[in-house]
Amino acid sequence: MPDCIFCKIIKGEIPTDKVYEDKAALAFLDISPVNKGHVLVIPKQHFETLLDLPDKVLHQTMKIVKKTAKAVMLALNADGFNISMNNFGAAGQIVSHVHFHVIPRFSKDGLKHWPGKEYKGNESKEIAKKISSKLH
Ligand code: AMP
Ligand code: ZN
Repeated sequence: MPDCIFCKIIKGEIPTDKVYEDKAALAFLDISPVNKGHVLVIPKQHFETLLDLPDKVLHQTMKIVKKTAKAVMLALNADGFNISMNNFGAAGQIVSHVHFHVIPRFSKDGLKHWPGKEYKGNESKEIAKKISSKLH
């Protein structure tokens, strides 16, 4: 993908703070970290979202996500970590090359989770049924 910023990072055309690389995946520091040590893990092949990712590539990438999370915990002396992923613009995906965020968390980092919404009446049963019917 010629215009993809992460493909350019993979090809070495844009500098980055690389933390890990193998034949299938690359991990590097996010340029604008939620907390210092925030890493992005990407497959080397260009796919846009999780839904485009073949299971084999997903497995290869997730293995590196797990390894990276452990390394981030140890290196930053973190108390926890978040793995997050934005898919499609509506969910906040800015870079259209599938990527997993590995974010070190600290007990007193002050970051808040999203607020929860409430189901009314039978709504949760209806929604669960709808989702279930799309899972084959
Ligand atoms: P997303 O909103 O999930 O698409 O996140 C894209 C992430 O890529 C953001 O957290 C950016 O800070 C990060 N990012 C964009 N350009 C670069 C770059 N050149 N090097 C490292 N991280 C980047
Ligand atoms: Zn790409």
